[in-house]
Formats: sequence, structure tokens, C-alpha cells
Amino acid sequence: MTSQFLTRRDVIRYAAGRVTFTVAATGATTAAVVTMHLGTDPDATVRVGQVIAFSILVSVAVSMVLSAALSYRSAILMRELTKTRRELLRISRTDQLTGLLNRRGFDDEAGVTLALAQQQDQQVVALMCDIDRFKSINDRFGHEFGDRVLVAIGDILREFSDVSDILIARHGGEEFAALMVGVSNEQAMLYAETLRRLCSTEVSENGTSTPVTVSIGITSPQRKTDLSTIMRFADQALYQAKDNGRNCVVQINAMPVAVAAEAA
Ligand code: GH3
Ligand code: MG
Ligand code: MG
Repeated sequence: MTSQFLTRRDVIRYAAGRVTFTVAATGATTAAVVTMHLGTDPDATVRVGQVIAFSILVSVAVSMVLSAALSYRSAILMRELTKTRRELLRISRTDQLTGLLNRRGFDDEAGVTLALAQQQDQQVVALMCDIDRFKSINDRFGHEFGDRVLVAIGDILREFSDVSDILIARHGGEEFAALMVGVSNEQAMLYAETLRRLCSTEVSENGTSTPVTVSIGITSPQRKTDLSTIMRFADQALYQAKDNGRNCVVQINAMPVAVAAEAA
């Protein structure tokens, strides 16, 4: 579709063009068919019934052809619009660097997953994973190499989520979030430890190489906890993991009293 519809005037111009075309096509076709059958002699005697039948026949045929063509074209445009909308939605929910869900996509999907889990009274476990000392990687090797590290960690998380059926996303910057349903505390801790080990890796590109580690905060709160509180607990656990020296997993299932008082 090459036409651009940016203003109301564009829309009116287009609609006026279509109406003009339809009227002209109907008029021309009717005139052509009627003169073909009834002749062009203005003084000829014709039966009124014949003229009426003819006019009805021609107008029905013309309107059928025109409305079919216009409806078909509209349906094609609507199909394109639906596809474009779907693609825009996918792009708006995807992190362009890693190809994982972005924060918006995560919030949408996690909301649905959480509601379903709560309906079925299943335990939900959330996880926040943050690359350790990432700023220093950027500072030493450049932003591009930093991006390479993000892609490498994103790939590890994606592979892990494919196998374990976990919802995973780049939550922002060098932070990744995950949501698991129906896993016990012990299983979740095991998953988090496995992830931490997998992410403890060496990233290399063009002769540059650096070790990378991540810290993980994990939470397995009470059943009816809402998503933002769950993610807050996971965040708190992540801060604790950083405080504990990084490259480790910490679990927090409820807000510590001191932090809850501060937040109030
Ligand atoms: P900590 O171990 O406490 O998490 O330290 P850190 O250095 O990882 O955390 P900090 O918040 O100090 O720095 C995060 C850095 O991540 C700063 C920011 O420039 C960088 N960053 C955020 N998004 C991107 C990105 O898309 N690409 C790259 N290369 N860097 C990014
Ligand atoms: Mg970090
Ligand atoms: Mg961070």
C-alpha cells in the first residue's frame, strides 16, 4: 500500500475519489448497457416495464461487482493491518538486542501466568538475575563488547528456559527476570543455582575475553501475592546477593521487617 493517510483531509480525499469512481462506473456501465439494448434513438417507443426491468438488472449487477471489488480490497487492507498490528505488538514486547521478552512483554505474560497459577493454587517462583560488575566490563572493553556479553547471557537463559519451561525476559539494562510455576522451593533453588553456574562463563570476541558472573535473587512468596510485590521480593533478594559478594543466589520469601518499615 503506497498511499499515505496522515491527516483527515487525506482520508476525505481518498473517500471522495472512491465515490467519484463508483458513480462514474455505475453511470457509464448503465448508459452503455441500456443504449446497447434499447438503442440510441430518443424518439423510439419502448415499454416502461422493459426499461424498469433493465435498470434494476443493470444496477444490481454493477453494484454487485463494485461492492465485491471494494469489499475484497478492504478485507485485504484489514488483513494487512492485523498483521502489522501483531508485528508491532511483538516488536514492542521484544528486546531487540537479545531477542528475549522485554520488561513490557514480561509484565504482560507474567500477569497472565500468575493469574492462571493463582486460579489453580500453584506456587509461583520469581527470579532476578543481574550481571556482576557489568559497568566495569563496558568501561574496560567498550559498549559493543558489553552488548556481546548481554547476548551471551541472554542465550544461556533462553536455552535454559526452553528446557525448563520458564518465562524469561530482559528486565532492563543487565538485569534479567524469570517466572516459574508449580515448582517447589527446593527445585527453584536448584534451578537458580544451575543458572548461576551456567552464566558463570567466559565471553570472547575478536581476541577480547573476560570472565562473567551473575548474582541471582529468588522468591517463592505466599500464593496470593501480586506481581509487583513478587518482583520487589526478588529484587530485594538480588540486592542481598550483591551484598553477599556477588556470584551467588539468595532467596527471600517475604519483605524483611526493616525494609517493609522503610517502604511504608
Ligand atoms: P553490580 O555488580 O552491582 O550489578 O554492578 P554493575 O556494574 O553491573 O551495575 P551498574 O548498575 O553500576 O552498571 C550497569 C551498567 O549497565 C551501566 C550501563 O551503562 C550498562 N548498560 C545498561 N544497558 C546496557 C546495554 O544495553 N548495553 C551495554 N553495553 N551496557 C548497558
Ligand atoms: Mg550488574
Ligand atoms: Mg543492575
